[in-house]
Amino acid sequence: MTEKEKERIKASEIDPKFKYEIAKMHGGEKLMRCFQCGTCTSDCPVARFSETYRPRQIIRMTQLGLRDRVLNSDTLWLCAACFTCTDRCPQDVEVASVIRVLRNLAAEKGCIPQVFREQAASILESGYAYKIPDLRIKKRESLRLPPLPRGNPESIRKTLCNVGFVKHIEKKGE
Ligand code: SF4
Ligand code: SF4
Repeated sequence: MTEKEKERIKASEIDPKFKYEIAKMHGGEKLMRCFQCGTCTSDCPVARFSETYRPRQIIRMTQLGLRDRVLNSDTLWLCAACFTCTDRCPQDVEVASVIRVLRNLAAEKGCIPQVFREQAASILESGYAYKIPDLRIKKRESLRLPPLPRGNPESIRKTLCNVGFVKHIEKKGE
């Protein structure tokens, strides 16, 4: 299948209930107000450096009911949650919150990019988002710097289990 054919939307992909589902969730209420002016994309600091990340497009795809395309998209995870789009939207659409809602649904389906799974695994294991390389620890020791503070993975795991985070991270995409 060519890239063009993949982009083509099939009627069978459209879920007319999707937009209502999102609009019922906290932060998604004003989704239908979007009139596609593009302000969110033109002011988004991530879109400026990405050829694929377009918040306006995510909002439109959601309005159109393209549930699987939106939830399976890796670009959904590029949002830095800076809220510039929300502040500047002339229609008061809470763009950043809609994206959060979509990410939560994607996570429930197990659609989480590998890089974030690895970060989460590192947090659960060490309390840090990134594993500190042994080489750096040795370098600190050679410079007689004090050891880095230890994370508290047990407490983090307990908290993240309670909010259902761990089961989403361990779930693979449907
Ligand atoms: S700024 Fe608001 S109205 Fe304009 S495209 Fe973005 S969400 Fe839609
Ligand atoms: S919250 Fe996300 S989509 Fe909105 S401007 Fe910031 S990075 Fe872009």
